[in-house]
Amino acid sequence: MKTIRKHQITLLTILLCCAGLITCSSNKTKSRNTNPEVIMDSRQMTEAAKLAKQLEQKGISDQLVLKAIANVPRHEFVDEELRGAAYIDRPLPIERGQTISQPFTVAYQSELLRIKPGEKVLEIGTGSGYQAAILCEMGADVYSIERYEELYLSAKKRLNSLGYFPHLFYGDGYEGLPDDAPFDKILVTAAPDKVPEKLMYQLRIGGWMVVPVGGRSGQKMTIIKRTGEESFKESLHGDFIFVPMQKGVEK
Ligand code: SAH
Repeated sequence: MKTIRKHQITLLTILLCCAGLITCSSNKTKSRNTNPEVIMDSRQMTEAAKLAKQLEQKGISDQLVLKAIANVPRHEFVDEELRGAAYIDRPLPIERGQTISQPFTVAYQSELLRIKPGEKVLEIGTGSGYQAAILCEMGADVYSIERYEELYLSAKKRLNSLGYFPHLFYGDGYEGLPDDAPFDKILVTAAPDKVPEKLMYQLRIGGWMVVPVGGRSGQKMTIIKRTGEESFKESLHGDFIFVPMQKGVEK
């Protein structure tokens, strides 16, 4: 009798654990729920890890960022014929004349965000979805907007097939997402001429936006921190070149 009860208790414990696991994985809107080995073979895993090491040597120190770089299969975010270059630290072309940013830039912007797991982060410019995947890996609750429908659809398909489920939107990033605001952090991955004002007011007080500001010849990486209802503080963090942030949407 005693043994049966013991068995029953063990069985119950196992069932409860399983239920817990199921809850976790269905909750994983923030991160990946697929086995990385299925997506990256050992060579690609080594390449991604080497890329993370290189970025560390170039000055990236946030371990959450470096881990994410080592875990995200960048080759899945570029065209078949560019896969050989996926783990080199350089930007690569994607559809509609856009680019997947250079890994250093992705890591640098992600580091400036200083993300804590669970934070609500809005990205402007989903593009390939690579940066969104990095933010998911870092444990953020990711919202991302893309102005090209074609890119929005392909990024959604790609991210979901890799097990990432950020909230993706087809729309004009200049408008932000008023219904989902406020955000702890906002990351802009295309370059506006000046800081988009509507986005500033979608930050929570104490939150900040990382945005490359400037014309086509180059931009200043800028942090805008919301310090009060109507007060903001700006700091500059180096020179970069991004594709322009354009108004409106396109197919
Ligand atoms: N974060 C992307 C990089 C994309 S390049 C990645 O990891 O691959 C910048 C992207 O911003 C492009 O896809 C471009 O179409 C998009 N973009 C430009 N202006 C925009 C706007 N107003 N709203 C939303 N997306 C925009």
